[in-house]
Amino acid sequence: MTPAEALDRVVHCLDRAHDGGFKAKAFVRAREIVRDLPPEELAERAERGTLTGIDGIGASTARVISEALAGGVPSYLAKLEAETQVPITDEGRRYREALRGDCHTHSTWSDGGATIEAMAAAARTIGHEYIVLTDHSARLTIAHGLDRDRLLQQLDIVAELNAGYDDFEILTGMEVDINEDGSLDLADDLLERLDVVVASVHSKLRMERFPMTMRMLRAVQSPHVDILGHCTGRLLEKRPPSVFDADRVFAACAESGTAVEINSRPERLDPPYELLERAIAAGCWFSIDSDAHATGQLEWQPHGCDRAAHCAVPVERIVNTFPAAELRAWTN
Ligand SMILES: [Zn+2]
Ligand SMILES: [Zn+2]
Repeated sequence: MTPAEALDRVVHCLDRAHDGGFKAKAFVRAREIVRDLPPEELAERAERGTLTGIDGIGASTARVISEALAGGVPSYLAKLEAETQVPITDEGRRYREALRGDCHTHSTWSDGGATIEAMAAAARTIGHEYIVLTDHSARLTIAHGLDRDRLLQQLDIVAELNAGYDDFEILTGMEVDINEDGSLDLADDLLERLDVVVASVHSKLRMERFPMTMRMLRAVQSPHVDILGHCTGRLLEKRPPSVFDADRVFAACAESGTAVEINSRPERLDPPYELLERAIAAGCWFSIDSDAHATGQLEWQPHGCDRAAHCAVPVERIVNTFPAAELRAWTN
């Protein structure tokens, strides 16, 4: 294990534990520094004990680097590997085992912390057959959303990466913003080209019930939208759920074949149980997604799986249990 690999793995474990504190930031920084440093200099400094002389390398990051150079698994990493496993119930495991991919993931192209290649590599390691790359659309400037030109560039890069895999695929997609009038923040010709489109509300979440219902209805009825992302927009203990006529929206989802996302992010866990039950009753499709913004967060699907199990979502209604080809056929 090289120092860079060890630091990568530490960051991965801290991400899956949802640790965004100063320690996690220090390891992210150390990882960047080590990547840019000639390996000889790193080895020499480790030998002389002068790693902490590098700006951005502290005592804990230096120890991980030296132990990796000495040829073992750094002790801090070994501890993290054991302590940051994402828990899952026995009932949830049945769902997790049925999943073949993840339909909602971000990369450094928008507000994610890992490259497309790193996300794909991590997804393969946890056994996925595919991920859908769903970076944000242009309107979400705070998240460096992709405009037309950047999305076209990304599509070329994804095609190149896919040519290098034989047992894995990156499906193209976007998490497109649902505008206030329910239109979508991307032109039709591009929406048409993407394999999977997740549509989400990210602005004006406190809109009145009626206009919010109309807004969501228009979006889920679009022939281009495949998945309704984190439908209430709630952030636990931070932001209340949006208010809309869930029965009308879920009925429209069921009718137009738009899946309701079960979002696995620990601060979202969206939809709430009560709405999830109503979506099941409406006959909706579902997608259990991580909404990962870092490699470790790809391991969050167990949270959504536990919720699906709690409400007894029919496994055959979950679209990311489909192989990639079948998923693509379903979205078309
Ligand atoms: Zn979102
Ligand atoms: Zn997202």
